[in-house]
Amino acid sequence: MTKIQNKWIFFNDQASLAKLNRLLSIHENLMPHQLAAATGCNLDEAMQVLMYLFYLRLARLYLLVYHISHSEPVLKRSIFDGFPELPIICPSCELEIIKEDELEYDFLFSLLDKIEFI
Ligand SMILES: [Zn+2]
Repeated sequence: MTKIQNKWIFFNDQASLAKLNRLLSIHENLMPHQLAAATGCNLDEAMQVLMYLFYLRLARLYLLVYHISHSEPVLKRSIFDGFPELPIICPSCELEIIKEDELEYDFLFSLLDKIEFI
């Protein structure tokens, strides 16, 4: 268990901080929109919290790659590997992806420890 001093104004009240800690206690993998939806903060704020955990080496960061016609990601890459170089063959539908606008991206953070903000 790693305890971290809360430094965000948007988690200043006990209720939203409790929601954040509950979320961190039950998930190993978190996406920014999940954190925002569960705690009531906005996406930028969710990204700040998760990037801070990445900076503290308490989370791994992955880039999820979506082929626009599928709801599930088709690739999961370490952030250090960056964006995929086109063209690629979609692992799901086997079509060749040539243009950047056929792809969408999201972030996935994998927590490496139990974390509590105090
Ligand atoms: Zn596809």
